Amino acid sequence: MGNVHELSYLKEKIEELKKEGIYRKLPILDGANQAEIMLDGEKVINLSSNNYLGFANHPRLKQAAIDAVERYGAGSGAVRTIVGNMSIHEQLEEVLAEFKREEAAFVYQSGFNCNIGTIQAIMEAGDLIISDELNHASIIDGVRLSRADRKIFKHSDIDELEQILKENRDKYRNILIITDGVFSMDGDIAKLPEIVELAEKYEAMTYVDDAHGSGVLGENGRGTVDHFDLHGRVDFTIGTLSKAIGVVGGYVAGSRTMYEWLNHKARPVLFSTSLPPAAVGAIIEAIKMLMESSEYTEKVWNNARHFKEGLGKLGFDTGESETPITPVIIGDEAKAMEFSRNLLKKGVFVSAIVFPTVPRGTGRVRCMITAEHTEDQLDRAVEIFQQVGEEMNILR
Ligand SMILES: *Cc1c(COP(=O)(O)O)cnc(C)c1O
Repeated sequence: MGNVHELSYLKEKIEELKKEGIYRKLPILDGANQAEIMLDGEKVINLSSNNYLGFANHPRLKQAAIDAVERYGAGSGAVRTIVGNMSIHEQLEEVLAEFKREEAAFVYQSGFNCNIGTIQAIMEAGDLIISDELNHASIIDGVRLSRADRKIFKHSDIDELEQILKENRDKYRNILIITDGVFSMDGDIAKLPEIVELAEKYEAMTYVDDAHGSGVLGENGRGTVDHFDLHGRVDFTIGTLSKAIGVVGGYVAGSRTMYEWLNHKARPVLFSTSLPPAAVGAIIEAIKMLMESSEYTEKVWNNARHFKEGLGKLGFDTGESETPITPVIIGDEAKAMEFSRNLLKKGVFVSAIVFPTVPRGTGRVRCMITAEHTEDQLDRAVEIFQQVGEEMNILR
């Protein structure tokens, strides 16, 4: 027996990661997350952030954060249920409910927390959750924590979803269908109108994780539910405050009843300190900016269109994307990773995404287009894609 403190069982697993070629170092960003960044000491065009609207380093958000710190301090000092529920947290929930056109919104410290906390609180053993196979990891964890039974349907396969509903309707009192609003690896949109119709036909509830749709789709970024005009027909709509909104946090929008229940039962809110005032102040400012103007959402869509046209003309395969998330599908895993490394050498940072995050043989780089990119930056990126594509012989 060796020394227990050496953690030799972990050392062995780390060696396995190295053998599999998936051991990695984290890239280091020096400065704010924006369209061009200093990454590991090099200036590069950033096509990898979720900062869709360019809010992460926006002067209005920064000022709002400073103002909130001056008034409320650096930290909230407690969980919300004790004495960490400041008036600024209440304001945030009011503004979010108005923005999302729902009765209420309940805020968590992150989108991840929101999914694990909400699903666990609203479902229990003896209930059934039906989940799209490509749903986010935090949904998968939330479903496990809830102890409800679980059925998975093939990605956006409405026929299979109906089959599962038909077979199980009489076996359960509560059935919840969960889907992402926008799928983060392909940029496709959930078939929400069909899902909602089926849910109503079989008296199931619906839960949409709109982490990548909120701030992007719908009127002024109100999200996927607004995009399809399904207000009042989706029971739980999750959004994150860390992607398009540019700060940190998550929320679920829906009915007053939902709010009241989560207020008593959501474990991440009961047992973990509330968001710091700086974050909350900046988020409120971001939501106000979205409600005032469509400038930001228009810009992100125009930029995405421009970039996709450029890549499409060159013959790259951009998959099924319907949103600013633009995958460039290479296929082979190692080749996708090499493609990403070569792009970086020429000044474009776009991360490779491979199995098991996406199916084997669909390795890709995933380009995230934001409102902040200039046309010049996007054109330069396309040019570099062309150079590397030709060098590696991957243009169709
Ligand atoms: C990013 C993401 C989350 C987690 O949100 P955070 O605010 O980063 O914790 C949850 N669900 C989906 C679909 C996401 O893409």
